[in-house]
Amino acid sequence: MFCTICQSIILPDKSGAKCTNGHKQTIPKTQITEKNTLPPLPIQVSDGKNILAVHDHVCTKCHFNKAELVEIGCFYSDEDVVAQYKCGKCAHVDLAEGKLR
Ligand SMILES: [Zn+2]
Ligand SMILES: [Zn+2]
Repeated sequence: MFCTICQSIILPDKSGAKCTNGHKQTIPKTQITEKNTLPPLPIQVSDGKNILAVHDHVCTKCHFNKAELVEIGCFYSDEDVVAQYKCGKCAHVDLAEGKLR
């Protein structure tokens, strides 16, 4: 590195870098060669499971015991609410047992 004013060689100093003629230098951060020792952040790998699958329901297909409750809504009347359990693992859909009130 050389001084931006007089092109002299810059000498590292306790209070910062200075050239041989005493011009104070601002060392750009890109010049810092200190190695980044921080370990790489662990990558969140999706295991394919549905994060909404929090309901206890054993899938009739793969026997996974957590499922997402999918409410379809009322059909023809306001009496029955139709819901389905969507398997958190294989996404197989089972009709919810009984009526959900
Ligand atoms: Zn200088
Ligand atoms: Zn399943």
